[in-house]
Amino acid sequence: PLVLGIESSCDETGVGVVRGREVLANVIASSVDEQARYGGVVPEIAARAHLEAMRPTLERALEVAGVGITDLDAVAVTAGPGLAGALMVGVGAAKALAVTARKPLYGVNHLVGHVTADQLHGAGEEARPVELPTVALLVSGGHTSLLLVRGLVDDVELLGETLDDAAGEAFDKTARLLGLAYPGGPSIDRAAVDGDPAAIRFPRGLTAAKDRERHRFDFSFSGLKTAVARHVERAEGDLAIGDVAASFREAVVDVLVTKALDACRETGVPRLLLGGGVVANRRLRDVAAERAAAAGVQLRIPPFDLCTDNGAMIAGLGARLVDAGVAPSGAGFGVDSTLPVGQVLIA
Ligand code: ATP
Ligand code: MG
Ligand code: FE
Repeated sequence: PLVLGIESSCDETGVGVVRGREVLANVIASSVDEQARYGGVVPEIAARAHLEAMRPTLERALEVAGVGITDLDAVAVTAGPGLAGALMVGVGAAKALAVTARKPLYGVNHLVGHVTADQLHGAGEEARPVELPTVALLVSGGHTSLLLVRGLVDDVELLGETLDDAAGEAFDKTARLLGLAYPGGPSIDRAAVDGDPAAIRFPRGLTAAKDRERHRFDFSFSGLKTAVARHVERAEGDLAIGDVAASFREAVVDVLVTKALDACRETGVPRLLLGGGVVANRRLRDVAAERAAAAGVQLRIPPFDLCTDNGAMIAGLGARLVDAGVAPSGAGFGVDSTLPVGQVLIA
């Protein structure tokens, strides 16, 4: 099916068009530069930026795909989780489009969209085989979730998630502590280039024996952030920023990869999919590749423009739902900023 997907859960306005698993267009406008002035995503600014970017992004996506609205078989939109005001702009646009063009509309789960990214391929590229079941680690500014995916449409299970900061948020907050620019991921990467990752042994959240029972696959990064803050205070004048950045990054990467591979072992699923903006981190990719190989786990990382928030993954999930014969969402559906991952489609 030919499906258009709209994404607006955080600071990316994304519109994608897919035909089945083939991406015909994936246009993204980000308000990250605007957010940088505030050192984080401000919900009101995100919503207003979506409002401004939505129409041109939509038009551009249709133009790139070379299709008209009447050609579509369905429209899909992120209904949650995410920032309520930001989500509303996308859902509003999608409803307007679906109603005027009389197309079925699917309000879908953002996190399952990230998983769908792995099944998409570019125009003219060879199809990527669908590899399920898989464990999926989604790491971004807004979420850190470990999932067990047996079926995209009907069987996605949450194994664990962060109890406080998301992984990307930890990078952003720590960068701020170190006086580095937003977004924190890239600036910590730059600062870490000459740093020693073993210089400081920062805490690995929720890995102690006492946390093994209840929080086996959950994450916590607030203790790490506090440890960095204390280190900075104590260092006073002579702070080795490179060492702090490298050691901080090592702590985050270590916990993420350790827990993800533990999940593979314990569920007996020898496959790990990464998604989200933090996947841009070179060290995360390297450590994941090295340890996955040692554990006999197949590592899958979609192309970067499908890892960050985008409309193609939402369109792709819509196409899977159409293929599975799932009925579209009801006309009156709203956004759900805390939509649970087990709910792929909002009724
Ligand atoms: P959502 O959480 O809804 O997916 P988001 O906009 O917060 O939305 P992304 O845009 O996917 O998420 O990712 C942005 C985050 O990724 C930021 O927190 C940023 O610091 C982090 N990030 C980007 N590059 C890197 C990197 N090289 N290393 C670590 N983190 C990075
Ligand atoms: Mg973003
Ligand atoms: Fe996301």
